[in-house]
Amino acid sequence: MPDTDFENRIVSSAVSEEDRGTDATLRPKSLDDDEYVGQVKAKENLRVYISAAKMRGESLDHVLLYGPPGLGKTTLAGIIAAEMNINIRVTSGPAIEKAGDLAALLTNLGDGDILFIDEIHRLQRSVEEILYPAMEDYALDIIIGKGPSARSIRIDLPRFTLIGATTRAGQLSTPLRDRFGVLLKLELYTTEELTRIIQRSARILNMQIDDDGAREIASRSRGTPRIANRLLRRIRDFAQVKGDGVINRQVSDYALGQLEIDSLGLDNIDRRMLETIIKVYDGGPVGLETLAATVGEESITLEDVYEPYLMQIGYLNRTTRGRCVTRLAYEHLGIEPKPNLSDDGQFSLFDNCK
Ligand code: ADP
Repeated sequence: MPDTDFENRIVSSAVSEEDRGTDATLRPKSLDDDEYVGQVKAKENLRVYISAAKMRGESLDHVLLYGPPGLGKTTLAGIIAAEMNINIRVTSGPAIEKAGDLAALLTNLGDGDILFIDEIHRLQRSVEEILYPAMEDYALDIIIGKGPSARSIRIDLPRFTLIGATTRAGQLSTPLRDRFGVLLKLELYTTEELTRIIQRSARILNMQIDDDGAREIASRSRGTPRIANRLLRRIRDFAQVKGDGVINRQVSDYALGQLEIDSLGLDNIDRRMLETIIKVYDGGPVGLETLAATVGEESITLEDVYEPYLMQIGYLNRTTRGRCVTRLAYEHLGIEPKPNLSDDGQFSLFDNCK
């Protein structure tokens, strides 16, 4: 039940069927600023690593990309392959079921190729262990036979580059994390960057949009390009049916209202989460598991998808004792905070959350 809720949610950062249709068209093809917008620091570093590897005629060091879903990790992996002018094979942690599946993928790579593993934190341990010698020594260790006559043979692999993507670098085992030479963190996008992404997408999809319309959608996209592109497509429908086809501020505002997305991009589930902390747990602190059970969502979904944005806009804090909402969240929801009695006998707000 919670999963379907999450998948159907219009501001979900997970890939939907509809996204798949336009993803390939909208995906930026180069690191240029008018293609892959924002992520200035990650791009700057990448440019250096790519140039250095090209100058030496070597393959790129293994790269780990991490950050919330929908921020451009898969896109970046494709761009790296294009800039290095090499092939990329795309797979994901859950798709590699057995050690043999990974061995087959690795032995089929060409020299210098990129292997992209999305959701790399979901690799099984037995599969992950194959990766260690593969990443470090470009070799596969295979055991032949059983019992006393068993012996291990080593197969050489081409010099490939592994690009791993994860929403949670912290969940990666240390031996795996240590084998990546390059770690790049992707950040949530600013409204200005999202405005440029929306204008670029509108150009590609031949939509008419004015600056205020683009900005309105951007400010309600939770810092996430995937959500911005999805809202843009949805709002186009409203512009065509209810207006003259041009996406302006008025149409955007109306459409987003109809979709129950508020001025900050929060939807019913975000509001339910904040209201639960306020009404059931007096503003917090409340443990993640308890909160997930009360809200009816998976704790991983809360942590990866909902919290990053709520924390970025300053509505939620993670403290050692649990999650706490801030005064801003009370104000946004129009709820009057209840004063707590603090140690010195004074009434003060948010003491429990210090
Ligand atoms: P992730 O792999 O992190 O979940 P994706 O790479 O699939 O995210 O990105 C989702 C979509 O968002 C892409 O199809 C692309 O259209 C858009 N996108 C992501 N990052 C950018 C960016 N920096 N500039 C423009 N569009 C972007």
